[in-house]
Amino acid sequence: MTLSGGALSHVHRLFWDELGMCACGDPDTARVLVRDLLALAPFHEHPRAEVVALIGTEGAFHLVLTMLENVGLIDHGFTLNGSWLTDKGRWYLQALQQIDDWSVIDADGIGSPEHECTDACWTAAVSAQPPL
Ligand SMILES: [Zn+2]
Repeated sequence: MTLSGGALSHVHRLFWDELGMCACGDPDTARVLVRDLLALAPFHEHPRAEVVALIGTEGAFHLVLTMLENVGLIDHGFTLNGSWLTDKGRWYLQALQQIDDWSVIDADGIGSPEHECTDACWTAAVSAQPPL
């Protein structure tokens, strides 16, 4: 399935602006990690070792989950081990699972949305995401 330009621009914003990633090296591996982590949430339904194994180390576990929380994809109460998806995280999980070729978010004409995102962005269906 091909995402709309509006949906792709939101994915572009997540990786470029919010997570501050650049295109050097192999950013697709990090994009896949974000997608796969969101798919494991809520983390209290999986053994902690499964989530740590996906990320690599205990230190990276704490750092990566903190980054995902800082950009509003997950939230937690007592401990990061029990993090769950926010509405934004659910929206991104659906969007990221529809991307086979990550170059689409870096394609000409795909930039970040011109609006400030609100909760309305995350309650709209991925397929119904409005244009830029
Ligand atoms: Zn938006």
